[in-house]
Amino acid sequence: MEIRLKQLNKSYKTRDKKTINAVKDISITVPDGKVLCLLGPSGCGKSTLLSLINGLEKPESGEIWFGEKNVTDVSPEKRGVGMVFQNYALYSHMTVRQNIRMPLDNPVRGDALPKEQKEKRVQEVASMLRIEDTLDRRPDELSGGQQQRVSIARALIRKPEILLLDEPLSNLDKRLRVQILNEIRSIQKITGITTVFVTHDQEEAMGIADLIAVMKEGKIQQVGTPNEIYSNPSNVFTAQFLGNPEINLLKGIIKDGGLFLNTQRIRDLFGVKDQEVVLGIRPEDVTVCETGNIQGEIDHIDRNGKDRIVVALVQGRPFHFYLTVMDEPASGSKVCLQINNDKLFVFSKDSGERILF
Ligand code: ADP
Ligand code: MG
Repeated sequence: MEIRLKQLNKSYKTRDKKTINAVKDISITVPDGKVLCLLGPSGCGKSTLLSLINGLEKPESGEIWFGEKNVTDVSPEKRGVGMVFQNYALYSHMTVRQNIRMPLDNPVRGDALPKEQKEKRVQEVASMLRIEDTLDRRPDELSGGQQQRVSIARALIRKPEILLLDEPLSNLDKRLRVQILNEIRSIQKITGITTVFVTHDQEEAMGIADLIAVMKEGKIQQVGTPNEIYSNPSNVFTAQFLGNPEINLLKGIIKDGGLFLNTQRIRDLFGVKDQEVVLGIRPEDVTVCETGNIQGEIDHIDRNGKDRIVVALVQGRPFHFYLTVMDEPASGSKVCLQINNDKLFVFSKDSGERILF
């Protein structure tokens, strides 16, 4: 089921009568059967946007469409979306089976199912989430990972056409996060359920999304495939939010029809007004060489699996690149670096927006 959000606005009034514009003029389409990740820092409006989609909050303006139906004024129960929360939101006095079955025990859409069919459905989703052997236990007898599986099973029991997940992996340790992320992805592929997945973690987003919408202060910064956003960021914020190690940022200047880095003209750049700029270069687009176009001083070397990541100081700030030679340079030593000018992003220093050329 396609989800279409049209120019949604939502604000909150705080107790001291301030207005917080949590969602500002957001329009996005999630194509049928795809996973959209809402990615952004804490407080940028991700949960508010999910609440607008599931109907727990009402927008001040704008429309929400599920397929051909305008659901803006439809109650949450009748929207029939499956919802998964960070803290699982399970009932501790009920068994796992009762928790999962609850949406079927309280039918709001259509007729109640006969008992055997309910049980059959519980078995189906429990087996999908690999929690069949926990059905007679209570939530507090389960690990965090199992509890989150129960909550996903409950969200799926009514075969919704839309699944919303709000930071579902944040309370789990790293290994389990990767495992459950892959399971959610494979269930999503099998069922073809249209999914909105909220996270502040770019690696999670890269791992599950067909499309990522990067958010900041209630606004969408960019929507695209993980690859599009990584390799074609539209502003500094988005460039920095994706990538580990982070993108390197350097000071530069546009003048006299050229782009300058440390007084060196590194390329022609005609037709753009003279200004100070921020240059962005990914660590993988930097190489060590005899006569490079920037100078750095080695600070230290980090390891990430088999990768060795050098942290050098360039323009007085940490600058990352991959070490591909055998010998590790000593800290304090000087290094010449060549940045791949074709892979360089140029951003306006004032607005942070990308300057295209
Ligand atoms: P996120 O999920 O990205 O962390 P939220 O959608 O929860 O962000 O919050 C967006 C902004 O709206 C924040 O500034 C938050 O403090 C504010 N906010 C969220 N819910 C309420 C509420 N019920 N009352 C007042 N302010 C709220
Ligand atoms: Mg949130």
